[in-house]
Amino acid sequence: MIEIKQFVFNEFEENTYVLFDETKECIIIDPGCYKVHEQQELSKFISDMQLIPVKLVNTHCHIDHVLGNSFVASKWNLELFMHKEELYTYNSTSSWAHMFGIVMEQMPDRRMYINEKDKITFGASMLDIAYTPGHSVASLCFYNLSEHLCIAGDVLFAGSIGRTDLPGGNFDTLINSIKTKLLIWPDEMRIYPGHGPATTIGKERKSNPFLQ
Ligand SMILES: [Zn+2]
Repeated sequence: MIEIKQFVFNEFEENTYVLFDETKECIIIDPGCYKVHEQQELSKFISDMQLIPVKLVNTHCHIDHVLGNSFVASKWNLELFMHKEELYTYNSTSSWAHMFGIVMEQMPDRRMYINEKDKITFGASMLDIAYTPGHSVASLCFYNLSEHLCIAGDVLFAGSIGRTDLPGGNFDTLINSIKTKLLIWPDEMRIYPGHGPATTIGKERKSNPFLQ
C-alpha cells in the first residue's frame, strides 16, 4: 500500500510529495525545499520514518517544483526521473527565478528520461505515467489505478486547472490532456496536485468550472 506525505515548500506554496510503502523505500516527487529549514523538515521526516529514498521524480520543471532537486539528488545520491522536454521548461523559466531573487542550480547530472510507457517503481509499488502537456510542454502525472491515487503536478487542481500563460503552456492542450487522460478514471481516484488541497476525479468532474 502506497502512503503519501505532503509538504508545502517555498514562497510559491508548492506541494512536495514523498511516496512510500511497507518496504520503507520511497520516492520524492517535485522537491520544492529551498530554505535550510525546509530541507531539514524533509530530511527529518525521512530519517524519523526510516525511509530509503530510491528515486527523485519531477512532474514538470517549473522552478517552484525543482528548487530542492540538487539538495535531494546529492543528499540521497539519487537519479532524477523526468521528461526530456522539460529541460526546455526549466531553461525558459530561469528568468523568473532571477525576478524572485532565487539562485537556480544546475539540474542534477544523473537523469533518466521517462514518458508514458515507462513505470516508476519503488519497494513493492509501481506508478504508471500519463503524458499531460498544456500547463508545461511535457507535464507528467504519476498514478496507480488500483490504489486510486495520482500525483498530478500543476495539471488539475481542486476547482481549477494549471495556468497556461507560461512558455510551453496551451489552454486547449491542457483541457484535452485532462479530458482524455484523467477524466477517464473512476470518481474515487484521488488527485494530489502541485498546489492546494487534494481532490478526487468525481468532485472535479462534477464541479470544476473549467471542465463543464
Ligand atoms: Zn508549474
